[in-house]
Amino acid sequence: MPAQENVPPRGARVPGWSLATSAVAAGRPVAAADVPLNTPVVFASTYYAGGSLGYAREGTPTVAALEDALGVLEGGTAVAYASGMAAINAVLDTLPTGAVVVAPNHSYTGTALRLAELVAAGRVQSRLIAIEDADAVARALPGATLLWLETPTNPLLEIADIAGAVAAARAAGVKVLVDNTFATPMRQRPLDLGADLALHSVTKLLAGHSDVLLGAVVTADADWAAALQSRRVLLGAAPGAMECYLALRGIRTLAVRVDRAEANAQELARRLQRHPSVTRVRYPGLTEHPGYEIAAAQTSGPGTVLAIETVGGAPGAERVCAHTRLWVHATSLGGVESLLERRRRWPAESLDVPESLIRLSVGIEDVEDLYADLAAALEFAPG
Ligand SMILES: *Cc1c(COP(=O)(O)O)cnc(C)c1O
Repeated sequence: MPAQENVPPRGARVPGWSLATSAVAAGRPVAAADVPLNTPVVFASTYYAGGSLGYAREGTPTVAALEDALGVLEGGTAVAYASGMAAINAVLDTLPTGAVVVAPNHSYTGTALRLAELVAAGRVQSRLIAIEDADAVARALPGATLLWLETPTNPLLEIADIAGAVAAARAAGVKVLVDNTFATPMRQRPLDLGADLALHSVTKLLAGHSDVLLGAVVTADADWAAALQSRRVLLGAAPGAMECYLALRGIRTLAVRVDRAEANAQELARRLQRHPSVTRVRYPGLTEHPGYEIAAAQTSGPGTVLAIETVGGAPGAERVCAHTRLWVHATSLGGVESLLERRRRWPAESLDVPESLIRLSVGIEDVEDLYADLAAALEFAPG
């Protein structure tokens, strides 16, 4: 059957469609009678010769469907990987030996650790800076190769001015990557702001159900997209078909999940500011947050993650984590279920992260249940 007229090819973003609509519509097979609505999960490592598909590491129909959707949402060409870390390594692998990477002094721990390994091995150099400080970013750029931004940062929720950093980077001939895991394209579109690469741990909000590991990089630079695609093949970082299917299914509800979880996060941040066991709330949606105005300008919302500090130091925070019944004490973020975690329980976490800091990944439960459960657990913080 020929494709119906007026039906956009898979992955096309119809002008005028919002991202919420595209999240539902993108990455589907071209419409024709008897074609399934959803891209099938293709379990095959190889294909009959003579066509466009070869070996599964190079890509499969299910991977391509996810990449189509991610490309539409971020506005470029997406390359999917087996995890966010695989995506991070693929990008770093595209850099020439001796490249200078300007990176946040508080980034995702995996990013920081891997960069440090590559520096120790003499593969690249790094300049670690306070990314919320525009002057510090500008000072670090001359002679650099890549500016690696994460905004908001994990777990301190620092905000970098993407457009400002891009302008300074362009002037210095430096490429810009934004780890967009926390904001998702529903709230922040780095390529629209001039960044060269948007990176995701698809594991988190995009997939959204704490049931897969996946990563992706999106770029409008065709050469870089080809290099990233070849990194997947040669580093063996190919995602599984089932994972891609689940992530695509998760993306269908991304807009409503982000709306709900963000509304919950905003309300919890407001209430927690007044809780006697809480000494500090970090959330870009609070006017007190130092990055509030930049976040308001470059995002369409402050997101679904916040961090609190409690009285009672590390033991106090641990008691809080041990006494919730609804909030799950676990690492990770971005799922439908709310998680909390004292980040310094990980020896590799930055020492700049306060001992009592608890990261809250807010889910889509009823906010009253979430607050009641957390407030009850916070009673244990003072000891
Ligand atoms: C989780 C995370 C990663 C790593 O992704 P994985 O899918 O766990 O490999 C990278 N960046 C950020 C901001 C993350 O939260």
